[in-house]
Amino acid sequence: DGGAPAMSLSEVTVRYGGVVAVDGVGFDLPRGAIVGLIGPNGAGKTTLMDAISGFAPSTGTVGLAGTTLTGTKTYRRVRAGLGRTFQAIELYEDLSVAENVSVGLSARAGEGHVGESELDEIFDTLGLAEVKYSAASQLSQGQRQLVSIARALAGKPKVLLLDEPAGGLDTSESLWLGERLKALRSTGVTILLVEHDMGLVMSICDQIHVLDFGKLLASGTPEEILSNTAVMQAYLGTS
Ligand code: ATP
Repeated sequence: DGGAPAMSLSEVTVRYGGVVAVDGVGFDLPRGAIVGLIGPNGAGKTTLMDAISGFAPSTGTVGLAGTTLTGTKTYRRVRAGLGRTFQAIELYEDLSVAENVSVGLSARAGEGHVGESELDEIFDTLGLAEVKYSAASQLSQGQRQLVSIARALAGKPKVLLLDEPAGGLDTSESLWLGERLKALRSTGVTILLVEHDMGLVMSICDQIHVLDFGKLLASGTPEEILSNTAVMQAYLGTS
């Protein structure tokens, strides 16, 4: 099944009371791709990630590497190969980068999680090798984002969900993050990227899906999305 997608979403729907936060969303994550998920505030991006992670009750199907995750608990999804970061990064400020990342190992305790040499590979890929022994409190915002990504990678995920990794980064830090994410893609990890920084999204994504009012508004390459009138209207609020 060399061509099988890393993840398949079909008719994923999340209802909060009367609000349909995610409405019948379906798309695939091709293996080894960076797939962007964009849309205006409140469009349902984080809620879709919550549905994939098992934090939000959903209907429809979420398939990961041939397994259906629908209805399973979060820890089972993590065991099946799901990793995730969050908008709000929580690091142990007094602990080193290496110690902060090792916390991610407990997610797959006893299941062939990464060892010391693999941790070093993660640090090399993400450009964190020289701060490995620095306290988290000494890091820049960009490095903090990368530590949270490294922690998710310590669970050896097949699919990594990133929720606004460029949040709080300036332009040069965002460019650096983009380079690290491309390096990460080259290691074979499949990435779903929720991000408001359009420069980052357009420069690193292989495919982009646009959510608006919980529904898929458009899907395509960065070039196709940039030239899509309906997408531009959704962002400008003139539709
Ligand atoms: P942003 O870009 O601002 O982070 P988003 O695209 O991630 O927005 P969501 O946070 O997923 O959007 O919100 C989608 C919709 O679902 C919004 O209308 C929001 O108010 C609603 N919503 C999200 N979480 C809950 C919840 N726990 N209970 C009720 N409604 C919720």
